[in-house]
Amino acid sequence: MELTGTILRGRAFEPVEGRVVVDDEGRIEAVEETAVDSSDIILPAFVNAHTHIGDSIAKEAGRGLSLEELVAPPDGLKHRLLRDASQAELVEAMGTSLRFMHESGTAACLDFREGDVEGVRALKEAADGTDVDALAFARGSVEAMEEGDGFGASGANDDDFEYERRATREAGKPFGIHAGEVDETDIDPALDLEPDFLVHMVHPEPDHLDRVAESEVPIVVCPRSNLVTDAGLPPVEDLHERTTVALGTDNVMLNSPSMFREMEFLAKFSDLSAPDVLRAATANGAEIADLEYGLIEPGRKARLTVLDGETPNLEGARDPVRAVVRRAGVDDVREVVTAG
Ligand SMILES: [Zn+2]
Repeated sequence: MELTGTILRGRAFEPVEGRVVVDDEGRIEAVEETAVDSSDIILPAFVNAHTHIGDSIAKEAGRGLSLEELVAPPDGLKHRLLRDASQAELVEAMGTSLRFMHESGTAACLDFREGDVEGVRALKEAADGTDVDALAFARGSVEAMEEGDGFGASGANDDDFEYERRATREAGKPFGIHAGEVDETDIDPALDLEPDFLVHMVHPEPDHLDRVAESEVPIVVCPRSNLVTDAGLPPVEDLHERTTVALGTDNVMLNSPSMFREMEFLAKFSDLSAPDVLRAATANGAEIADLEYGLIEPGRKARLTVLDGETPNLEGARDPVRAVVRRAGVDDVREVVTAG
């Protein structure tokens, strides 16, 4: 298979006119510079590094409620709605969100999955027959972690996760945990667990930033979610200077799981460059989950998003990387390649 257009090549997303050659196994064989007719823009498909797609059953519910009233276990609105939903309703709603994620250029999501073993199974069932790798970071028992792809802890103030942390390490799977969303009190205990990644980090203090720099623990930021729940906004420049920053859309209840929207928001409230934002939306999440895509370079799996560069929205844009990050949307997607 061959794709032609302006290719955002390698880690720098250097725009190159030419063709991407994909072999029969679905791996990128070559990126060739040559004059082509196509005005398409070819970028790596997105890795949404933090979602809760179970709350696809609760889109736009809970107007006026606080973060705690909305999502805190066990009695937040979201958890009551999850308990009331049948397994079939849950699977169908999650499948719908996964289809939208695919259509909007996303190859994978790192999902913090409620509902223990059953919840992990529901996600896998929903993902079956879609083109999204839905990775289940299970919450609840060690059995759920073993059934899924890792452990996703709610936060170090909720519980002592030593046992789950150890079991996840022994299983050779990644352990992620929310930290610093509401305030700073759960950051040190979360770091003490030596997690594979942290989620949010809206409220780090200088000594937390030192610990982040020292451990280089990757951080997934979800700025639109933080805005909508009044948590504040994460100091993304400070985090980016110290470690790998990836991007996630968090609760489907609160935000559409569109990486285009998340990238635009991050790019416009922060001083991160367009390539830094695009890396947070692709390669950095792939690295956290050990996925073999996320960049366009030989040897990587071909998970690619192809945009039509001549839509009324994108026509005439002078910088393809800035156009992808700050302007593009689902309507500009021509094709999402999931060969690899
Ligand atoms: Zn979360």
